[in-house]
Amino acid sequence: MPTIQAILADITTLDVDAIVNAANESLLGGGGVDGAIHRAAGPRLLDACRALGGCKPGQAKITPGFDLRARHVIATVGPVWRGGDRGEAEVLRSCYLQCIELAEANGIASIAFPAISTGVYGFPKKQAAEIAIQTVSHAVEGTAVIAEVVFCCFSQPDLDQYRSILMQP
Ligand code: ADP
Repeated sequence: MPTIQAILADITTLDVDAIVNAANESLLGGGGVDGAIHRAAGPRLLDACRALGGCKPGQAKITPGFDLRARHVIATVGPVWRGGDRGEAEVLRSCYLQCIELAEANGIASIAFPAISTGVYGFPKKQAAEIAIQTVSHAVEGTAVIAEVVFCCFSQPDLDQYRSILMQP
């Protein structure tokens, strides 16, 4: 079982094999964590993303990390929150699963996730954190590839939320 921890950090600074980007369907950049990752990775990330032809909600695609310390960026598109009865939870689960599957397929030993969909996409933070932790914990059980999972929180309340869920038996 890999180590799973929550930290408070700017995900663009992390020295891991892959950071996950909460991108939009175009994969051509945006605000929030997406904008920060593109700024830190440099223009070659945008070029690489252009070649991917977009990404549907719940899917994930991988590129190099370019100017980042992280070796790869895994872009995934979270659901836009529309009240909760439009399959949002399933789509969010799929994001985390596809990221783990891509990481395994690419020999990635350490991966950091932002809190996908909890910014401008409006997914309730507590429910999103529960989905993130449950989905990832289950998906990495018995992995021979992934050794370290980091939930990269961007505020102290978010970190407290993740840590309280991670400490539950
Ligand atoms: P989405 O469109 O999926 O909601 P956002 O980028 O708006 O994506 O927000 C997703 C989460 O990423 C939010 O919890 C936000 O606080 C967080 N975030 C924003 N910038 C960074 C960063 N540099 N590092 C880590 N997390 C970040």
